[in-house]
Amino acid sequence: MAEEPSSKVLVAGGGVAGLAAVRALQAAAPGHFDVELITPQRHVTTRSLDAGPPFLRATTARVELAELAGELGFRFTRDALEAVDPGARELLTQGGAQRFYDTLILALGTRPAVAVEGTVPFRGLEDLGAVVAALEPVASMAYVARSANMWTPPLYEVALQTAAWAAHRGVALRVLVVTAERTTDPLSARLLASGIGLMDETVVERFHDGRLELAGGGTISAEIAVALPHLVGRAVSGLPPGAANGFTDVDETGRVTGVEDIYAVGDMTGSRLLAARQAGLAADAIAARAVV
Ligand SMILES: Cc1cc2nc3c(=O)[nH]c(=O)nc-3n(C[C@H](O)[C@H](O)[C@H](O)COP(=O)(O)OP(=O)(O)OC[C@H]3O[C@@H](n4cnc5c(N)ncnc54)[C@H](O)[C@@H]3O)c2cc1C
Repeated sequence: MAEEPSSKVLVAGGGVAGLAAVRALQAAAPGHFDVELITPQRHVTTRSLDAGPPFLRATTARVELAELAGELGFRFTRDALEAVDPGARELLTQGGAQRFYDTLILALGTRPAVAVEGTVPFRGLEDLGAVVAALEPVASMAYVARSANMWTPPLYEVALQTAAWAAHRGVALRVLVVTAERTTDPLSARLLASGIGLMDETVVERFHDGRLELAGGGTISAEIAVALPHLVGRAVSGLPPGAANGFTDVDETGRVTGVEDIYAVGDMTGSRLLAARQAGLAADAIAARAVV
């Protein structure tokens, strides 16, 4: 006879980390958990940028969460977490619903904030149109990553695509990348081979009046500058204040510091571990405590 699910797990957040947590829990203790995913959006989408002239293709793979829930055997509620009461093991949603849990997994991602004053923000596909529109009338532009603690591949990808776009149109456009991190040799070679100027291990403080102002002093001219956002965590009402920049403080298994049976995974923890790895560690810890 099939085992009845005996432990109620709420997962708040339907991005990579939330879905990875659902899968990891199901793998760690098949049939043991009654899982409900609460997230405001209908779809899960990939964030990868597909290269292709004349510019990045604005296509994303989208999967209906309701469909996925049916296939994988979890419940899906389209709503958002409003607050948590850890003492009562209760979650309140923005839609006014109450849910009780044995274990709560938070996977709420981050919020983008302006990283470099005066720049055009680039968070991914959603900002591509604005970036292309800003490029049209200029002869020089810079792409900026202010901190080494950012997801930088999209910045290099969009810089390479900008150079390809200019070449394709026969437009004279000087493209420069200024990044706080140290770039690898293959990446540097690829950028330089595409005619892109590169300044790595360089921090930009702000962009003002056609000039990038550098942390170490000095300026670089560019007609426009596009920067990756600074990501900040999402504070959760009812939980103790977390680490710097609103990130949630967790131990090595993802358990939220100072409360019982609440875990956090993915970008909201500020960890550099991949979301799927964090979700796996949390699922193993939850299964070890729940299945005796
Ligand atoms: C352009 C781009 C490309 C990237 N490419 C890659 C890549 O190739 N490989 C890689 O490893 N990483 C990549 N990343 C980074 C990767 O996207 C993140 O590390 C990953 O998405 C983090 O997943 P997450 O689930 O923590 O957060 P998110 O994916 O941001 O998901 C957060 C979820 O929480 C939901 N949510 C928010 N508030 C609430 C609330 N109050 N209640 C309930 N739900 C809520 C949101 O709707 C969302 O579903 C890329 C990032 C960008 C910007």
